[in-house]
Amino acid sequence: MNVDKYAELVINIEAALTGTFHYHVPRDLQDSLRIGHLVEVEFGRRLAQAIVISFDQQAPVEETKPVISLIENEPVVFPWQIKLAQWLSSTYLAPLNSCLRQMLPPGLTRWSDTTFDINPYWDGNGRLTERQQNLLALLRTKGDLRGRQITRALGKKSEWQPAANQLVKRDILRRATILDLPRIRPKQIRTAELATTWQRAVTAVTQLGRKNKQADILIYLLQSDDPLPTETAVLTATLAQEKHLQLLANAELITRAPAENWQLIIDNDQLPIDLPATISLAVSTKVALAHILKLRGAKKYYHVLELLAQAARPLPVSDIYAATNTNLNHLRKLANLDLIRLGETAVWRDSLADRDFVPAEAPLLTADQARVWGRIKMSMLLAADDDQAPKPILLHGVTGSGKTEIYMRAIDFALNQGQQAIVLVPEIALTPQTVHRFSARFPGRVALLHSRLSDGERYDTWRRARQGLFDIVVGPRSALFTPLPNLGVIIVDEEHDASYKQTAPVPPPYYHARETAVAAAHITQATIIMGSATPDVVSYHRAQGGEYQLLELPRRVMGHRQRIDSQAQRLQINSHYQQQTSDPDDALTIPLPPIQVVDLRQELRAGNRSIFSRALETAITETLERGEQIILFLNRRGTASFVMCRDCGHVVKCPRCNMPLTYHRPRMMLVCHHCGRQEPSPQNCPQCGSKRIKFFGLGTEQVETLVQQRWPQVRITRWDRDTTAGKNSHDTLLAGFINQEADILVGTQMIAKGLDLPLVTLVGVISADVSLGLPDYYTGERAFQVLAQVAGRAGRGLLGGRVIIQTYQPEHYAIQAAAEHDFVTFYLEEIRFRTQYMLPPFRRMAKLVLIDPINDRGEREAQKLKRGLMLHIREKALAATEIIGPVPPFFNRIDGRYRWQIIIRAPDPTNLLADFPIPQAWIVDIDPVSTL
Ligand code: ADP
Ligand code: ZN
Ligand code: ZN
Repeated sequence: MNVDKYAELVINIEAALTGTFHYHVPRDLQDSLRIGHLVEVEFGRRLAQAIVISFDQQAPVEETKPVISLIENEPVVFPWQIKLAQWLSSTYLAPLNSCLRQMLPPGLTRWSDTTFDINPYWDGNGRLTERQQNLLALLRTKGDLRGRQITRALGKKSEWQPAANQLVKRDILRRATILDLPRIRPKQIRTAELATTWQRAVTAVTQLGRKNKQADILIYLLQSDDPLPTETAVLTATLAQEKHLQLLANAELITRAPAENWQLIIDNDQLPIDLPATISLAVSTKVALAHILKLRGAKKYYHVLELLAQAARPLPVSDIYAATNTNLNHLRKLANLDLIRLGETAVWRDSLADRDFVPAEAPLLTADQARVWGRIKMSMLLAADDDQAPKPILLHGVTGSGKTEIYMRAIDFALNQGQQAIVLVPEIALTPQTVHRFSARFPGRVALLHSRLSDGERYDTWRRARQGLFDIVVGPRSALFTPLPNLGVIIVDEEHDASYKQTAPVPPPYYHARETAVAAAHITQATIIMGSATPDVVSYHRAQGGEYQLLELPRRVMGHRQRIDSQAQRLQINSHYQQQTSDPDDALTIPLPPIQVVDLRQELRAGNRSIFSRALETAITETLERGEQIILFLNRRGTASFVMCRDCGHVVKCPRCNMPLTYHRPRMMLVCHHCGRQEPSPQNCPQCGSKRIKFFGLGTEQVETLVQQRWPQVRITRWDRDTTAGKNSHDTLLAGFINQEADILVGTQMIAKGLDLPLVTLVGVISADVSLGLPDYYTGERAFQVLAQVAGRAGRGLLGGRVIIQTYQPEHYAIQAAAEHDFVTFYLEEIRFRTQYMLPPFRRMAKLVLIDPINDRGEREAQKLKRGLMLHIREKALAATEIIGPVPPFFNRIDGRYRWQIIIRAPDPTNLLADFPIPQAWIVDIDPVSTL
């Protein structure tokens, strides 16, 4: 065949394909086909979608099939995304097609379909198989059909596709591919807010309801410059009559002053003066308006305005309809008259947004911020000049130090250059205020990706991004793959967060979004800013080594002055803080809250067996007396973490997962937190029959109960995965707490990030030990991060605050450092530990996991793989490479299947494994964030 062009394709099918495939480009597509295009090809015997990743003059194989058709005119991935997919594939040893699929919206295949129709020029000749005849018969009766419709008509087992392919080849059928638009159901709610004052509303009301003389008089009075117009003037202007005046006077809406005759004596001359009858308004503008609209038969409009005036914030239209018995037409009318403004808010709600001032304008920077921003701006400018990627930036700033403000400056800078931005956050539901600030600062330019979006909505966002319909995308790790044409800046907020790592059971690649973001920034020459109060030890180590630029914000900003003032007013409290001389006009800087560490062993020695140390108990009582709020933090859920026999030590475990079951009090059930299995709690020990079976450990439910027992009057909100399981309940719970419907919030580590809770003055950590006992390399780092995060919730308000950490291990360096707000000391200790055990950053790890329902078989396979690996290492003469295991990991049995794990510690595990065939069944996790 005479072709001069081949396309190298990645086939987009579920099955893992690491390689690419060459197809030839038919003449009619040679001009139009571009890199990133989604095409249709025959793969094996089926039709498949594929993506063009490059063009070639030659093909590595003798015979190539043609590209059948172009599915969409616009490329579905940009070249930078193809490069990123290749990077993902080689870094995380994952199939290239599944890496490239990360860049596509879920269900892209579902949105595309093939249509068939009978070629009208077919002469009807030729032999046909039975299948072919069936297919043609169907098309003859139904006209052209989509693939899915054909499958539905002929049945799933009909295997009509090969028949269709043959008919297409013989020019009997014609085939076209189309990409459907999803049904767009924006998960947004319409809102309305007042856009006028009562005074300004007067002009517009003549457009509402029907004409009414009395109303006209009132309108005239409201608009007249003359405070005391004469009756004649009023009646002439309004064409109203005496009786109308009388009615208004009877209703006490106006005051009538009758005509009078005065004798004025000037220089002994008597001058008779006739004072005409006058009218004046007897009520306020607002009351007058209410009557005007009532008289004009437009009472409903008044109710809407009144409701919005009282709310002084946007309300969901559904609330307005319910309260005022109106509908969208009413609101549209008011909006057309500029009396109200209709808007849209995404479904996620920021519980604080409608109560607190959110600065939409960029504030003046603090001195620290100005220094940091100066450096970033310089690096962005230089990068633009040098045409190269700027060095990644690690922004280490304590909680509330104003990192978000820095992010917004960088984004603004990029936007001004016609570029776009990606903002990665760990989880939108947990960062409501941060997210809200982006949309307030860049109205109409932000798209949110969050877990509640349907596939259709995701697809829609993806399309809008590609079309350049927004400039900033905010979302969790997958937001990194948004198809933005000209990426200028990537923000990774809370860069230490483990949720940035994709892990099994979702399909590979098991990528780390932060590392991938660094790669994406490198490819696109974008600026990347990774921010955290507790940077990842590896990131910080890189910054120390000069690989990243380290910038620091050591001081906490209390907040925007305007916001503080509005809070102070609303809550009727005065600030404890004075303005520092170094503070700029907009901000107040404040010290971090003091942290007290309580040794629980000493409490035991002193005979205190309660979960509240004496210090915490006193602090809670005092705080409650002052009418302030408290957060009690606990690192697990359930009432008791496990059930144990006091006589034989038997622990009740999930038979499928071999993990201790957790007792949940309201349901009186034992629940497995791995597979969800529930069973009733035993009365007797299943092993020895003893009745002395006891609940050990502590969960949020039990803390709630104990708090209630000790302080019976107190109102408690519990916040954990169990109470937030329903829709919107994050917001509801939080809003309730913010509205002071509760005094104490008992929660797990979900306690929201970036939240200001102005009345919280005490944060108590019930037990800091929970995670320190787990057999994982990263427990020290996680413990420090969690404590620092929780401590960051205290002392952000006007009233200051304190933190009490209870622990059995007060000497642990993670707890000590957290108590001092001292990241650097923690880092130095941690890095010493890691040098000693050859952990990251000194070695990298790979975690290989095999899941098998038969334990022995799993172990045999694992041993076999280990032997192969050892051999491979010897052959390649790789030094400094260690293989640990195979062992059953901490979570060794999940869903009734056994897990075997091998850990590799090596300078470059990817290099080690790249040319080593690992059987498909294994999960390969490069740079795992947990070894549990
Ligand atoms: P971080 O992201 O480091 O946790 P934030 O950016 O959320 O910190 O800042 C904490 C608070 O201080 C926020 O309420 C923010 O609006 C406010 N803030 C930050 N910088 C300034 C500034 N320069 N002027 C006024 N308020 C500021
Ligand atoms: Zn027992
Ligand atoms: Zn289980």
